[in-house]
Amino acid sequence: MEMEKLVSLCKRRGFLFQSSEIYGGLNGFWDYGPLGVELKRNIKGAWWRDMVTGHDDLSISPGAPETYDMTGLDCTIIMHPNVWKASGHYDLFHDMMVDCRQTNKRYRFDQVRGRWAEAKGQKVFVTTVAENEQQEIERQAQKLFKIRAKNADEISWDGAITTLDQIDDLSQVLGPDAGELGTLTEPREFNLMFKTIVGAMGTEEDAAFLRPETAQGIFVNFKNVVDSTRVKIPFGIAQVGKSFRNEITPRNFTFRSREFEQMEIEFFCHPDSSQDWYKYWRDRRMKWYTDLGLSGDRLILREHDADELSHYSTGTADIEYAFPFLPAGEYGELEGIAHRGDFDLRSHMEGKLDEKSNPLEVQLGADGKPKWRGSGKDLTYRNPETNERFTPHVIEPSAGADRATLAFLCEAYTEDEQPDEKGKPQTRTVMRFHPRIAPIKAAVFPLVKKDGMPEIAKDIYRELKQHCNVFYDEKGAIGRRYRRQDEAGTPFCITVDGETLQDSTVTIRDRDSLDQWRVKADDCVAELMKRLS
Ligand code: ATP
Repeated sequence: MEMEKLVSLCKRRGFLFQSSEIYGGLNGFWDYGPLGVELKRNIKGAWWRDMVTGHDDLSISPGAPETYDMTGLDCTIIMHPNVWKASGHYDLFHDMMVDCRQTNKRYRFDQVRGRWAEAKGQKVFVTTVAENEQQEIERQAQKLFKIRAKNADEISWDGAITTLDQIDDLSQVLGPDAGELGTLTEPREFNLMFKTIVGAMGTEEDAAFLRPETAQGIFVNFKNVVDSTRVKIPFGIAQVGKSFRNEITPRNFTFRSREFEQMEIEFFCHPDSSQDWYKYWRDRRMKWYTDLGLSGDRLILREHDADELSHYSTGTADIEYAFPFLPAGEYGELEGIAHRGDFDLRSHMEGKLDEKSNPLEVQLGADGKPKWRGSGKDLTYRNPETNERFTPHVIEPSAGADRATLAFLCEAYTEDEQPDEKGKPQTRTVMRFHPRIAPIKAAVFPLVKKDGMPEIAKDIYRELKQHCNVFYDEKGAIGRRYRRQDEAGTPFCITVDGETLQDSTVTIRDRDSLDQWRVKADDCVAELMKRLS
């Protein structure tokens, strides 16, 4: 599937719009349209139901070492600035970036890639950040060397496309949008947190940050949840909400946005069983995506190698999807499942006091002591039965709601050939969403706008509306109405026709198989509910 087709369908049918579009848009920000908002709400709803409210805490779930509780939270986006100092985000949450002195553009260091080109006695490392790398690099090189496309073989190439960190001398580099050599600066750190000011004074002292992840709200409330509910370890706390990262180069549609939504679980358990819980959550989360329709050959579970792991983690796996905008064989992260040990709770208790067991780069204050301390509060847990006290270990399945939505959109997009009313083959675009996440569950049509058909159809519509999101349409040829619903991903269409007037039956049409069958109008709701569940 070509990404352009999906992007155009998303705009045409109201799944996704560029934020502030009438003002030219704002890079890295996206709005969900009337169909998109339903799709994303259904995905978040399915996640919350499957992970939290629908979770059976009285039985041992398949693959789980024991029974466990699940509960939820909804925390603020702006939190005490010390949260981010203790968590490490203040010091360490950055990307390396390079600036172009000629164009004033800024790039993520690891995204600038290029290749050595030689012509007219000059050797240059020509770079790009575009997805069609080779083409762009060739175009840039031709421009620089003033060589026409038809004489492109006057340029000789050395080695494969590599990242900028392989190049020692930046003076030989042509920046992605530059017209001359050596305009890129040395890489510098760039903190990804959005800064804001709380209160009327507006001084640096009042600086706060928009959360770059929802997880920290869960850690700082760990004690509140234990004290206010009857949960016992092992248990998980879930949160869905907005997060913000000032990404240097937002791209690939909503994949890398500056404002996005996360669906995160922090699962607290005893250190001895933490490896089993890690495996449980990794497999459980993978199954969630496949159950909702992401196909096996485009979805992978990738365990991190030892050298990729954070120093505190004894296991991390990513669930990745082969998005169509990525080069063949490459996958993009949908979710990370990490064994985080006791790192987070300990950071919020103690801060970075003990360099040996907590070997972050510690910033030292004037007194030579580490600058950032935790809350000083006791965030350990006491087992009420054995009285054992310990700092729980944490397994964190951290998913992006927007990336999941994008993956479901990509997976759903299909084209097939179907005859139109005159029997001529036509390309049909179908969004094959799983019924649970489809924005509209059913559409109701009267075949014609007369003979009492609209009245019967409206009654069915009103009744169905009490159960799910349905759509009523009486305008245009029936074939065109079906096509519109196929593009919206509506699994079922119900049509009231001439036969309905005689025997009170209606036609139900299946979006994927195109099968049509008749049921009694009175049984319509029950039939749909059965098929949608
Ligand atoms: P990446 O390496 O792609 O930047 P990450 O490893 O920094 O992602 P995490 O910090 O693990 O991501 O965040 C958890 C999840 O949040 C990701 O798996 C992703 O689904 C989502 N997410 C993170 N950053 C973004 C973003 N800029 N836009 C959309 N979703 C995001």
